[in-house]
Amino acid sequence: MAAPELQQTVGNIAGFTGTALHTGEKATLRLHPAPVDHGIKFKRKDLQDEPTIDAKVENLKTVERATTIGEGSVRVHTVEHVLAALWAMGVDNAIVEMDANEPPIGDGSAQAYVDLIRKAGVVAQDEPRKFFGAGDTMHVQSKTGALLVLLPDDKFRISCTQAGPNNKFTQFLSMEVTPAAFEREIAPARTFVYYEDVKPLMDKNLIKGGSLENAIVVRGEAVLSKEPLRFADEFVRHKILDIIGDLALVGRRIRGHVIAVKPGHASNADLARLIAREQTRRSAVAVSRPIPSGDGGLDTDQVMQILPHRFPFLMVDRIISFDTETKCVGVKTVTINEPFFQGHFPGHPVMPGVMQVEAMAQVASILLFKLAKTTSRIGYFMSADEVKFRKPVLPGDTMFVHAEITKSRGERLAKAKCHCVVNDAIVSEGELMFTFLDK
Ligand SMILES: [Zn+2]
Repeated sequence: MAAPELQQTVGNIAGFTGTALHTGEKATLRLHPAPVDHGIKFKRKDLQDEPTIDAKVENLKTVERATTIGEGSVRVHTVEHVLAALWAMGVDNAIVEMDANEPPIGDGSAQAYVDLIRKAGVVAQDEPRKFFGAGDTMHVQSKTGALLVLLPDDKFRISCTQAGPNNKFTQFLSMEVTPAAFEREIAPARTFVYYEDVKPLMDKNLIKGGSLENAIVVRGEAVLSKEPLRFADEFVRHKILDIIGDLALVGRRIRGHVIAVKPGHASNADLARLIAREQTRRSAVAVSRPIPSGDGGLDTDQVMQILPHRFPFLMVDRIISFDTETKCVGVKTVTINEPFFQGHFPGHPVMPGVMQVEAMAQVASILLFKLAKTTSRIGYFMSADEVKFRKPVLPGDTMFVHAEITKSRGERLAKAKCHCVVNDAIVSEGELMFTFLDK
């Protein structure tokens, strides 16, 4: 097996100053290294307390012409080009510090940010990268004719068709997005705008920093810019740049093939949201390791990959053994540190009976997932019958939780007989029923 790809951050602090697109004022952007699993965060150095904004899809605010993210009342505008550069150049974790509400626009491409990342350097960290692997085909469609489809692929690819009004300037490009390909083929591609679209904004003085130095203006058949086109198909290349920047808000690397037809920030954001939602769904019951079929047990880590429960509600530490397909034994060490002892009861700590039933349900769920061999459904606890609490469970006790599936009908309904044992004596028992629903 190949070594896992590691997360990366920038090696040094590096920055540059330029003009902000909307205000036309000077803005300075500085990249700072950040620890593993930090992701990309923007920092508003110009505001009191220097608030940060997570570059995540849940913070997406507006997608008109450019992508704006925010938390509370704090905003950063036009984040897509710097995000595209960070993501495509392989930077997973960084702080993007700015003294304005938007980055300097540079020449309207991602070139300035690529240069900055080169200056800062990219260094590997000691945790593997997190990926979103495209599974079933996903797609988003908009009234304006944008269509984005995500297909499974073991690389990250984009195939994009761009078309202007009346299908003028129709261009197509398909590529695998790697740092080298991005730097060479995509980063230099500049923003392009249609004259009819920007005229009203110029009249209202809303794009004070906009000029032919940082955008290509298309007026009818004419292409106006200070510098000639950098590629014959510069427009579709910039569309790919924007897709990368907007999908960076997913917060994970994507393994998949994006097929984009007439994309814009709104449809890119829709796809980013869809992917993030699917990721959340998967993480809720993440099973990334196969459940052993023999007598082998599960350690805490493996238990937590199957069960969504976490401290203080995870009631099983380990599965010590499986017996055939339908029986297993879990173990829970009960310590005085359990939060429920604080109130149950002060001075006379006893483990609540309902927590023992919860422990039974969790151990039975592990069996059910194993039986169903799928995690695409979620089990709901329906009822508990014949529940008896025979002896108190006290701090320091090791509780063995036995579960046996006694009935499973049509993969929709299952019953489990369970009991808990401390010091070779049954302390509690019950019959639990579960139903399964598609997630
Ligand atoms: Zn753009």
